[in-house]
Amino acid sequence: MPPVHSQTQLLIVGGGPGGYVAAIRAAQLGIQTTLVEGAQLGGTCLNVGCIPSKALIHAAEAYAQARQPSSLGIRCEGVQLDLAQTLAWKDGIVAKLTGGVGALLRRHGVTVWQGWAEVIDGKTVDVRGAEEAVQRIRCEHLLLAAGSTEVALPFLPFGAGNGRVVSSTEALAFAEVPRQLVVVGAGYIGLELGTVWRKLGAEVTVVEAQDRLLPAYDADLVKPVAQSLARLGVKSLLAHRVEGLNAAGDALSVREPSGTLVELPADKILVAVGRKPRTEGWGLERLMLDMNGRAVKVDAQCRSSMKNVWAIGDLCGEPLLAHRAMAQGEMVAELIAGQPRRFEPANIPAVCFTDPEIVVAGHTPASAEAAGLKVLQASFPFAANGRALSLEAPEGFVRVVARADNHLILGWQAVGAAVSELSAAFGLSLEMGARLEDVAHTIHAHPTLGEAVQEACLRALGHALHI
Ligand code: FAD
Ligand code: NAD
Repeated sequence: MPPVHSQTQLLIVGGGPGGYVAAIRAAQLGIQTTLVEGAQLGGTCLNVGCIPSKALIHAAEAYAQARQPSSLGIRCEGVQLDLAQTLAWKDGIVAKLTGGVGALLRRHGVTVWQGWAEVIDGKTVDVRGAEEAVQRIRCEHLLLAAGSTEVALPFLPFGAGNGRVVSSTEALAFAEVPRQLVVVGAGYIGLELGTVWRKLGAEVTVVEAQDRLLPAYDADLVKPVAQSLARLGVKSLLAHRVEGLNAAGDALSVREPSGTLVELPADKILVAVGRKPRTEGWGLERLMLDMNGRAVKVDAQCRSSMKNVWAIGDLCGEPLLAHRAMAQGEMVAELIAGQPRRFEPANIPAVCFTDPEIVVAGHTPASAEAAGLKVLQASFPFAANGRALSLEAPEGFVRVVARADNHLILGWQAVGAAVSELSAAFGLSLEMGARLEDVAHTIHAHPTLGEAVQEACLRALGHALHI
């Protein structure tokens, strides 16, 4: 069948947080916009990423709290997990949010095509949907927002061992709590989901190639997380090399640092060793774009090497974070509408939703020093914060990093219960160019975790009040 033609000003491939935000903003600015999504609107983030994982983290914590002996005088007996109900609740949140994205796109007049896009050239894309006819769409601007996919280990492919080896997508929907779960990779996904299934009752072993958990994070921040995992009974095997399934296909063969080969019996093996930009299988290579490793190379306006072809989000590489994709999508829409914009954020905060949580924004002391900056740094422990104690969460701290000469704040780090919410204050202070004095002299409500933010600045200035 010959393709059916249509024409649009902006064509977006991918309806994840990058693509759908770009579409909404473009439509607000009066740009005729078409979005093509092959799977579900909301992309990785809403369907099989940020949202379902955070929902399960919450459910697992609620279950663990109910089961553990409490010093609060609360006794729960006969606590049971109805996993089907837990998963249905999580799926309900996903459905609500993805439905909301569809409604927002409709309300803004974005044309949405359900189907897989194949790039023909920089102004032409074919869409194959459920119907037989191929839709050929011509555009003035092409925005590539196809996201990323999980990295597979060649010697441990997904699906091997009769479905035993899985990615994060399956690990968000196990029909039963695995008896023995082995997690390969102690990064974001491995620790977030490893903690979920441990709290829901699985025996969990995490195998990491490097010599520490969350190797991308500052060691001081990771220490409370490592202690908490040990308390929960998660076994961490560091500097271990994964070799593949054993001969029977029911255990993971792992080489210890000493060279000894051990077998870890597992009914599920979650491989979480990173994600890679989705650059293959949809004709992208026809554009012969400049690449940055596996990612599409873009400049500070998310322009690719071809005129009027733009790329955002995970497709253009690290950091693979939903809020980065959204910010880029919004910017590209405004650029196409003729507004002057550049993607030069003072920071992109990152949160690891472990127990306790970790937040980083801007420079750490080490990265500031590596950049040749002379810095002041100070930490304030949650053990001295009334709100943290009243939440039974005395672990962790907030740390501020500032220029020694003029006290300009360069970075923040925190580890502790619910510190993800501090990322807003951290991001804002960096974006607005706050100095230690600005935060130290801002009245922070009492009792809140935010007081630790203020106290870290006071401490850097040499006059903390509560320590
Ligand atoms: P995606 O969300 O991957 O969306 C791309 C979309 O494009 C997909 O829907 C895909 O189906 C579609 N597509 C691809 N190719 C085509 C084609 N040829 N035709 C049509 N459609 C196509 N980030 C955070 O910031 N916070 C978190 O807490 C967090 N948790 C995560 C937890 C997990 C388990 C995972 C896997 C990821 C997590 N992330 C998190 C990362 C986050 O999901 C991604 O950074 C974000 O989704 C990237 O957005 P994107 O729009 O670039 O791509
Ligand atoms: P990751 O990069 O966070 O961690 C991968 C880990 O696997 C690393 O510690 C690495 O050393 C280890 N590893 C690599 N090869 C290995 C091997 N052969 N054997 C043992 N260990 C090995 O990747 P991820 O956890 O898969 O997450 C992918 C991306 O998704 C992240 O980069 C992140 O940007 C995003 N994400 C973000 C969040 C969040 O923002 N809270 C949550 C989940 C995922």
